[in-house]
Amino acid sequence: MTQIINGKAIAAQLKESVKKAVDEMEYKPALAVILVGDDPASHVYVRNKIKACEHVGIRSIEKRLPQNTNDEEVEAIIKELNDNPDIHGILLQLPLPEGLDSDYLIQLIRADKDVDGLNLRNVGSLVAGMDGLVPCTPEGSLILIRSVINDLSGLHAVVIGRSLLFGKPMAQLLLRENCTVTMAHSRTKNLAEICRQADILVVAVGREKMVKADWIKKGACVIDVGINRMENGKLCGDVDFEMAKEVAGYITPVPGGVGPMTIACLMENTLKAMKQSNETS
Ligand code: NAP
Repeated sequence: MTQIINGKAIAAQLKESVKKAVDEMEYKPALAVILVGDDPASHVYVRNKIKACEHVGIRSIEKRLPQNTNDEEVEAIIKELNDNPDIHGILLQLPLPEGLDSDYLIQLIRADKDVDGLNLRNVGSLVAGMDGLVPCTPEGSLILIRSVINDLSGLHAVVIGRSLLFGKPMAQLLLRENCTVTMAHSRTKNLAEICRQADILVVAVGREKMVKADWIKKGACVIDVGINRMENGKLCGDVDFEMAKEVAGYITPVPGGVGPMTIACLMENTLKAMKQSNETS
């Protein structure tokens, strides 16, 4: 019998545990979100992040900048937030409008406030197995996997997608759990065959229902990270959910799977960033 992994419920539990910790703190953590331009999806994501902050008791500030903002203006805001001891986490909402240099700007965020885990110091810490801030979506995906599999040691995990935001850190987290990890991408040959060998299959591509039921090993744990809008306006993942759930042992739905975990882990990372700053000050 296939188990549908309820990301919404697991994210709610995680947020409650952050809320409990924050409730007990006299001085509350603070998250600053920088939103540049008028991409409607980014506005929705930021609104949801701010709402989650309100729910768990994290203070939040939003810095909104117009579409025609240049690198220097974003840089000035990041520097101001870096220097502000009352701000513990900084998030630069991606994607940035065309013309802005995301790679450059992301690296300006101080590593100890980098709640998206994209600063090269945090990337390096993850690879080296050292403590640091880990990107929220892979962290949340690992929590979902661990909610159904106790011991990941020796399992074969296949990750499709190799972005810095998701695929690469996901592979590192699975490696840290002693999985044997295969990373697949757009140039991978025999992708379906490789997927069929996976005990854990994590898909982050951005292609509607790309992974078919016959790509999945019976009983495997399937984590669908993709968010795609279908012609009918509804959301779907990168996995053909209806067919795949007949084969998988565990599977995440879209929506209601990985998505809610991203925000819950952002709350956890902000709390962690504040604790880190207390330890070093
Ligand atoms: P991305 O930067 O565009 O990376 C996509 C990856 O998919 C690339 O590594 C690419 O390979 C690979 N790919 C493209 N076509 C492929 C194919 N036909 N076969 C195998 N691999 C292929 O995207 P991302 O930021 O990682 O996001 C991926 C998806 O996850 C998107 O749908 C995004 O919306 C979703 N997402 C969801 C959340 C959440 O909170 N739920 C968070 C982040 C992302 P190459 O490297 O060779 O080009």
